[in-house]
Amino acid sequence: MSATQEISSKAALVRKVGGTFDIEDVSVAAPRDYEVRLRMVGCGMCHTDIVARDGFPVPLPIVLGHEGSGVVESIGAKVSRVKPGDHVVLSFNSCLECPSCAESKPAYCFNFFPNNFSGVRPADGTSAVSQNGAVIHANFFGQSSFSTYAIAHEINAIPVDKDLPLEILGPLGCGIQTGAGAAINALAIKAGQSLVIFGGGAVGLSALLGARAVDAGIVIVVEPNAARRVLALELGATHVIDPKATTDVLASVKKLSGGGVRYALDTTGNPAVVGIAVETMLPNGMLGLLGIPPPDATLPASMMSMLVRGIGVKCITEGDSDPQEFIPRLLAFYRAGKFPFDRLITKFPFSQINEAAHSSERGEAIKPVLIF
Ligand SMILES: [Zn+2]
Ligand SMILES: [Zn+2]
Repeated sequence: MSATQEISSKAALVRKVGGTFDIEDVSVAAPRDYEVRLRMVGCGMCHTDIVARDGFPVPLPIVLGHEGSGVVESIGAKVSRVKPGDHVVLSFNSCLECPSCAESKPAYCFNFFPNNFSGVRPADGTSAVSQNGAVIHANFFGQSSFSTYAIAHEINAIPVDKDLPLEILGPLGCGIQTGAGAAINALAIKAGQSLVIFGGGAVGLSALLGARAVDAGIVIVVEPNAARRVLALELGATHVIDPKATTDVLASVKKLSGGGVRYALDTTGNPAVVGIAVETMLPNGMLGLLGIPPPDATLPASMMSMLVRGIGVKCITEGDSDPQEFIPRLLAFYRAGKFPFDRLITKFPFSQINEAAHSSERGEAIKPVLIF
């Protein structure tokens, strides 16, 4: 069933840098060949939505939102992976043609930027969203899912079983996959191995959940927010450290881990924190960097110290994930009771999208999810 008609939708538009999300009426075009149109059910809010609202270069006005989940309403003529009525989680978009995509590493798609941040279809510069004939930018992460209807692509629409709680599954497509994939895919942590995670936000706690899902040993979470430290312990951290109340975080990590950890993950992007993280590891350790650093930051690490221990550094995007493969794996862990990502989620009605953003900015909601 391919639709030929545009459909009216309520979408949250950002019209100026640093502005608010304003819910307005828009039109969403019929899906083209490899596109799918969805009735959105839920959408997580990720740090990148707030960064984009506040000036990350995307064209305005734009519909943001990139952790959507919904029901396929109609499909383009060449779509074969999903059909109307399917439940799907949306993830980032990729080109399918570059060397990274050919190796099933779409997180490192050579065309990641145009496919996720250009606000248009890269092929011809058009947008699927409009308002009274005027262009509204969309295709953010190949979805722009702060909208009751959205256009995605069959490559970034991942089918999921209908008995799962669809409205909260969207964050698996970005923030949760980013953290969990860092632990499971990028670092490939094995049973019994130790890890320290700097930052206990949505990504850091998802890394903790990922590490627990694969039966890691010692997992230490360094996080200044007391409520998040409590949650980290409930989710299976063996130790937590308050960096504001600890004069020597490096010494604390070494003491708690019996001399050092095998792996370290930084979700803060703070160079001073990375400088500590790189020294926490035993020989043959690997440091994963997930946080968004200041634009001109350089690595604050002793090359000699790293050399003599054989320390590796891996910068990680989207958890090294191929969402079509990894999201079903995370859901299998969830079904088995080994990946309770729902503990990170706070629901807000779509109409309270600005409150959801503020709650996240204040450090209250770890992972807000808008419910349509
Ligand atoms: Zn590609
Ligand atoms: Zn994101």
